[in-house]
Amino acid sequence: MTFKDFKLKEEIIKRLEEIGFEKPSPIQEKAIPVILEGKDVVAQAQTGTGKTAAFGLPILSKIKKDEKALIITPTRELAIQVSEEIFRFGKYLGVHTATVYGGSSYNRQIKHIENSQFIIATPGRLLDLLKSGKIDIAPKYVILDEADEMLDMGFLDDIKEIFKFVPSNRQTLLFSATMPEPIKNLAKTILKNPEFITI
Ligand code: AMP
Repeated sequence: MTFKDFKLKEEIIKRLEEIGFEKPSPIQEKAIPVILEGKDVVAQAQTGTGKTAAFGLPILSKIKKDEKALIITPTRELAIQVSEEIFRFGKYLGVHTATVYGGSSYNRQIKHIENSQFIIATPGRLLDLLKSGKIDIAPKYVILDEADEMLDMGFLDDIKEIFKFVPSNRQTLLFSATMPEPIKNLAKTILKNPEFITI
């Protein structure tokens, strides 16, 4: 199987050839077609399996100019890493990414959020911005990355609250290395008829 077997945009296929991705990893093989179809997904995948491309490539391929994707990560480091990876894949699509985390200037982040299709954020700062009314985003796509880490770090209530601010008319993806009970329950409340993917 190659990336050409998926219905991904030409600009993405070309970019993957350029950066040397030859074939999809197992999580990519399973997740990309399902995400392209528009289904909600719960995927069990560890770091290093290519999970960022598994959700990033289909969303990059589908997202329209006036739509936003919100990616929530447990840490600032992961937010930066995911942001760079999305930007790298999206070179020929001209996408902008905003990386949002605590400790950095509010005003700069707010401006970036307004101008970016992809917002990659840690839960605490994102919730602050949403509650204060400083940002008004209606993401078409919401991705939880490393959901079990967010649970371990005590972010579960923040996550639940964040979902009060996003429209119900969205596609939601949940990635987690493990599936403890609270994550399964969270999945039940925020995803619609999800497809379960394991590798
Ligand atoms: P991740 O699990 O998303 O953190 O990805 C782990 C590493 O594998 C990153 O450096 C990716 O750029 C790289 N990677 C992801 N998918 C592929 C692929 N299909 N072929 C080669 N490298 C990949």
